[in-house]
Amino acid sequence: MDSNLSRFTNPKGSSCSATQNLYVANCGPAVGISFEDIKSFFSTFGEVVGIHVADDSGTRVIVCYSELTAAEAAFRTLNGCHCGALGGRILHIRYSILQLKQKVNDNDSLFVSLVSSELAIPGIHLVHDFITSEEEQELLAAVDSKPWKNLSKRRVQHYGYEFLYEVNDYPPGIGLSPHIDTHSAFDDMICSLSLAGPCIMEFRKYLLGSCLLRKAIFLPPRSMLLLSGEGRYSWHHYIPHRKVDIVQGKMIRRCSKRVSFTFRKVRSGPCKCKFSQYCDSQKDI
Ligand SMILES: [Zn+2]
Repeated sequence: MDSNLSRFTNPKGSSCSATQNLYVANCGPAVGISFEDIKSFFSTFGEVVGIHVADDSGTRVIVCYSELTAAEAAFRTLNGCHCGALGGRILHIRYSILQLKQKVNDNDSLFVSLVSSELAIPGIHLVHDFITSEEEQELLAAVDSKPWKNLSKRRVQHYGYEFLYEVNDYPPGIGLSPHIDTHSAFDDMICSLSLAGPCIMEFRKYLLGSCLLRKAIFLPPRSMLLLSGEGRYSWHHYIPHRKVDIVQGKMIRRCSKRVSFTFRKVRSGPCKCKFSQYCDSQKDI
């Protein structure tokens, strides 16, 4: 729900050139129309690749199509018309333009979800208090009794295959660059247990070239994060480099140390996921 859509502009007037993205007013959760309803309604004109809030009103959305012709058909048919399937509402539609603003400012305010249902990325689940404080202390003592390998910004210990990054130790303010774990290397489910200090994990999805969605979730100590499906295969994940995080208006200082235990299963055979655009196994097909 709280996707950052600052990369869209919403032109006034109908003389603007057609684009694959429609700005639709008088439509959204605040007028009782769910994203699922909007997607299914607009899908009658072609493949809808995203529905996003246009602003904070809850009454204006951006509908992104994969094809320009679908957006044009929906625009011609629906603009200014009573839509029976949407409770007879009159939709006001304009073409929405993607701004070519590639650079993301990490200090842009981004709503931080506390629970995964609020984050609303399919396949991403967060379980709070997955282990007890006593278990956390035991695990931290266990890893600290083993030698760490120094990387440029963090330390790791490997268990199992050497190329797996299975235990990461993050000094305060040191994060990870945005990445998708290589499809061909690891199976669908990736689990990550956070210990010692909290952090924020940001998710980014690149749509239609330059369109970027950003979402974030707060990972407290002792929580377990599961990445699977769409969340694992098509969203980049990232821990921003900051010493202080703002979470729903509260300032949270990173601790002197954060440890994560990440569990991945080595894949045998090529990845056959539905997200071929992001899939290294399916790149050459
Ligand atoms: Zn894949």
